[in-house]
Amino acid sequence: MTAEITTEELQNDHDYILPVYVKPDFVIERGEGAYLFDTKGRRYLDYTSGIAVNALGYGDPEVSQVIAEQATKLIHISNLYHNGPAGTLARLLIERSPAFAKVFFSNSGAEAIEGALKFARRYARDHFGEGKTNIIAFDGSFHGRTMGAVAVTAREKYRDPFMPVMPGVRFAGYNDIASLEVAMADDVCAILIEPIQGEGGLRTADTAFLKAARDLCDRYGALLIFDEIQCGMGRTGSFWAHETSGVAPDILTVAKPLAGGLPIGAILMSQAVADTIHAGDHGTTFGGNPLVTAVGSVVVRRIGDPAFLSHVREVADYLDESLQDLAATHPGRILELRGRGLMRGIRVNGSAAAVREAALEHGLLVVTAGEDVLRLLPPLIIEQQQVDEAIAILQRALGVLA
Ligand SMILES: *Cc1c(COP(=O)(O)O)cnc(C)c1O
Repeated sequence: MTAEITTEELQNDHDYILPVYVKPDFVIERGEGAYLFDTKGRRYLDYTSGIAVNALGYGDPEVSQVIAEQATKLIHISNLYHNGPAGTLARLLIERSPAFAKVFFSNSGAEAIEGALKFARRYARDHFGEGKTNIIAFDGSFHGRTMGAVAVTAREKYRDPFMPVMPGVRFAGYNDIASLEVAMADDVCAILIEPIQGEGGLRTADTAFLKAARDLCDRYGALLIFDEIQCGMGRTGSFWAHETSGVAPDILTVAKPLAGGLPIGAILMSQAVADTIHAGDHGTTFGGNPLVTAVGSVVVRRIGDPAFLSHVREVADYLDESLQDLAATHPGRILELRGRGLMRGIRVNGSAAAVREAALEHGLLVVTAGEDVLRLLPPLIIEQQQVDEAIAILQRALGVLA
């Protein structure tokens, strides 16, 4: 990982980019399907998808074509005027999601979280007056890097160097109904949950936990917010990850895969929430621009196709079986399999980063989630053969662990 600086691109990155990310010493030049190629022509099987962004893989012809066509027509006009693509994408999202009535488009996940927190406070103030401003978030949570989003993010490392962050946040135990009941009070305006935790280690929320959160919100007049920025849009084999629980939130945040790699975020909300937000209450310059939202509609249509989702479920089942076999052959090294669908975690007995490095040596890109969890986020278009390829590489890479 310590970069031996060889090419001009690496030199520029090294000299001028703020080194908040530690990167391996090659430069990626292009992608095709589930594969990336570096400037030396080396091929990598990509189980990161740009962190759950590239659901349709690389070089999707429809995505490229819509970008080219829309770019020649109109890229940006601001939200002072109507544009066609934003309305179409909003309609497609709402048609898929009966609990919601309106959409606000942002530019990133963190910005969707910020908006969701603002809307929750606004709703509480409208309905209950001042003082109902607290938010309950959970251990292991990750919601982004801005001041409000880090305030609801559990890991101290992301939050403490930047104190004071947004006040009014209380943490409860994930999947721990008793601790949620203790944290809940009249001064709480929202409970914020990732149905599957991403960065925090791939834990999956129990249906009973989501139901308990819903009940508590109803009892206390608080809003339930699900953050599906990473787990949403087909990754678990249903369009939204929470669908299978039967529990509907009042607000849903979406981002990563929504626009095929272009930056976007979205906040979906119920009519009751939308009723409390008025002209001028919130805004964004770039959010919902026609280029990004035109691509968003392609992605929503494609992922929303029942045949696409059934492909995801099939390949995810195959991945699950393969991971169980892998775990059975490495009982001392693999401690636990986590996650659902094509969002999987492997908790290892040792350093997940060491396994990630070894996998990279063999041409497989994976992410970590904390110290001891490997995170698998392949493009949703992978086939069984690319599961076999990844498992064969992991089989060897796990050898770095004692
Ligand atoms: C990535 C992520 C965010 C933040 O999104 P950005 O686009 O990086 O700001 C928020 N919540 C979850 C669950 C995420 O995975």
